[in-house]
Amino acid sequence: MQKRIVVLGGVGFIGTHLCLRLLDEGHEVFCVDTRDIANSPLLRDMPPHPEFRYVRHNIVHQFGIRCDEIYNLASPSRVRYNKALPVETLKVNTLGSINALDTARAEHARILFASAGNIYAANCRDTAEESGFCTTRRILAEGKRAAEAMHRAYQSEFGVDARIARIFNTYGPKMDINDGRVVSNFIVQALRGDNITIYGDGGQSRSFQYIDDLIEGMVRMMDDTPDDFTGPVNIGNPNEFTIAELAREVISLTGSKSKIVHLPLPADDPQQRQSDISLARNMLGGWEPKIQLRDGLLKTIAYFEEVLSRGGIRR
Ligand code: UDP
Repeated sequence: MQKRIVVLGGVGFIGTHLCLRLLDEGHEVFCVDTRDIANSPLLRDMPPHPEFRYVRHNIVHQFGIRCDEIYNLASPSRVRYNKALPVETLKVNTLGSINALDTARAEHARILFASAGNIYAANCRDTAEESGFCTTRRILAEGKRAAEAMHRAYQSEFGVDARIARIFNTYGPKMDINDGRVVSNFIVQALRGDNITIYGDGGQSRSFQYIDDLIEGMVRMMDDTPDDFTGPVNIGNPNEFTIAELAREVISLTGSKSKIVHLPLPADDPQQRQSDISLARNMLGGWEPKIQLRDGLLKTIAYFEEVLSRGGIRR
């Protein structure tokens, strides 16, 4: 059955992959974003699609759209390394969540909120004041936590059909070349022959998931779970790698002559982040990450090779 689906933050990396997947399934898709569609290499090059609409809107302001489902992926981009947007980050996660939830409530629509794996980084046993204080880097996580609480409140007080997915480090083709995340940084540095910049000693670890696995998990969470299943549920790939291992793998797969250099570790950089996906495995209809790091990196390298062959400019 065709549904009318709203993707808030639909111009971002994850949002554009999601819009295309939903269009492929035959749904009507409303992509809502503050950024122009020219920022999305997927949507910009897509031939006009009769079921696709783009609405330029900042969700910190109220809105209303007739719809059956809402995916809320809206978040200022590159916020971790561009410290200029902490207020906007909190507004999008608090005011934006309220406006999205009000729309879901008015439309009796199901809403899925994209929270983040970095929500787990806070150490609750450490009560020294400076560690409990919200640093700029923690603002995104605190915003996500506030948004999760808002979804829980709308569920319990107004019966809104709200779900929460906690998304772990995700990579893949069509990432922004200037994204600043580790996978895109290393691949672009390796392909250009630039130094590979490891922050700290590279012993910190992450578990990286390929974009297609994430999209599959999110769509299943929206469509294939029992009505009373609200999450939060972690969506990630639990295979863990140190950042030094990732650097060596990228150098080996690209055949690059790049050298590894070590730069200072950013404040609050978690030493480890691994996704425990047992709940997702049980609840998301047999979902399982299918693409492992080597294969995902090869696809992502092929994408960035093409981008760089055009002078680093996305068409
Ligand atoms: N990192 C790195 N070099 C880079 C970019 C990131 O060593 O050029 C490290 C960063 O310090 C962190 C890890 O890679 O330990 C993952 O960073 P990313 O920004 O991709 O995601 P995060 O897990 O911090 O949200």
